[in-house]
Amino acid sequence: MSDVIRNVLVVNAGSSSLKFMLFDMASEQMLAKGQVERIGIGNALFTFSTEGFAEKQSPCEAPDHAAAIRLACDALTDPAKGGCLKSFADIDAVGHRIVHGGEKYSQPVKLDEHALTEIEKLSPLAPLHNPGALQGIRGCEQVLPGVPHVAVFDTAFHQTMPEESYLYALPRELHDKLGVRKYGFHGTSHRFVTERAAEVLGKPLDQVNLVTCHLGNGSSITAVKGGKCFDTSMGMTPLAGVVMGTRSGDVDPAIAFYLMKNGYSAEDVDTLFNKQGGVCALGGSSDMRDICAACEKGDHNAQVALARLVHSYAMYVGGYVALLGHTDAIILTGGIGENSWETRQAFLKVLSGLGVTLDAETNRHVRGVEATISGKDSAIPVIVIPTNEELMIARETFTLLSK
Ligand code: AMP
Repeated sequence: MSDVIRNVLVVNAGSSSLKFMLFDMASEQMLAKGQVERIGIGNALFTFSTEGFAEKQSPCEAPDHAAAIRLACDALTDPAKGGCLKSFADIDAVGHRIVHGGEKYSQPVKLDEHALTEIEKLSPLAPLHNPGALQGIRGCEQVLPGVPHVAVFDTAFHQTMPEESYLYALPRELHDKLGVRKYGFHGTSHRFVTERAAEVLGKPLDQVNLVTCHLGNGSSITAVKGGKCFDTSMGMTPLAGVVMGTRSGDVDPAIAFYLMKNGYSAEDVDTLFNKQGGVCALGGSSDMRDICAACEKGDHNAQVALARLVHSYAMYVGGYVALLGHTDAIILTGGIGENSWETRQAFLKVLSGLGVTLDAETNRHVRGVEATISGKDSAIPVIVIPTNEELMIARETFTLLSK
């Protein structure tokens, strides 16, 4: 490995999948990307594309995460597939996305045995995510030994929340002994759009107050004060907050006890709130393209689902605007925030009480690009900023290792 960090591989591993992207940090260009699905299950699939080579999917052998990352590295070094590296040694660093860093990690960390043990200890807080990410790290270390590996945490950006934001009104010992508190998620995305918003607004990062809305299959809304997270809608788990694709978001917690007294198991309730709720439960699809198309046709359930969704967004935005005192801008990002003009239109209409206005014509045409969609007379500008979590992970990896 050279001392200069040029090529950073970003890895996002789950228990049976591994997504990757390669960045040239001199230009911040994405050079290649791909994923391996069905790791360890059989009938694994490998997808790969680069700037000049269209996406190609092929069956592959991926009994474990090491095999998956080897497939990725083989493609990255194979000119016939569009790979632009000469050898594995051209990968200067690997940045790993880790969902949960608990209270331990407010910054990225260079991985060693100690850090891996700490991340493993946090697995009970993210049982569906951290174990898979750890398998990914172990696999990458086997295939790319001697390369620095960095963990970038989804929760890290939110570690600046004050106690009044992150403590639940429950006995303190639940926090002290069991880690019961708000952690928040999508931190890498909220950080990315916060930094970009400061540039767009022409303000120093530490003077910028924002409400950042990451709206996708999973959604969270964050109050950013002086460039740092002040509060966020997700909680101890990514179930809390606004209505999502299949997650209920905030509900009366007593509903869980009520259902359990009526024959539901804890697992049933978990499945109900996480996988059978959200706009899917109300409108029949978790995808806003379907919901908006059904609204257009006059489908009542879809209309209620859309109204309930933007109602829940507005409750957080209104609360955060009040808490921030002054808000420089409301930022929209994520699959819905970047692409669904109908959802944005409905959302901004509900925000009219805050003096927010909509530039309907501009909004209609904004899809995956940066743009201000509020009217010139809006009390708070509303700006769409496409997120790039992978680039943020690459940047954080680069910055940590260049120190
Ligand atoms: P994400 O989880 O950020 O990838 O967001 C995925 C969601 O974004 C999808 O389920 C859709 O609801 C929404 N979405 C993505 N693309 C579009 C589009 N072109 N128009 C409307 N909604 C979209």
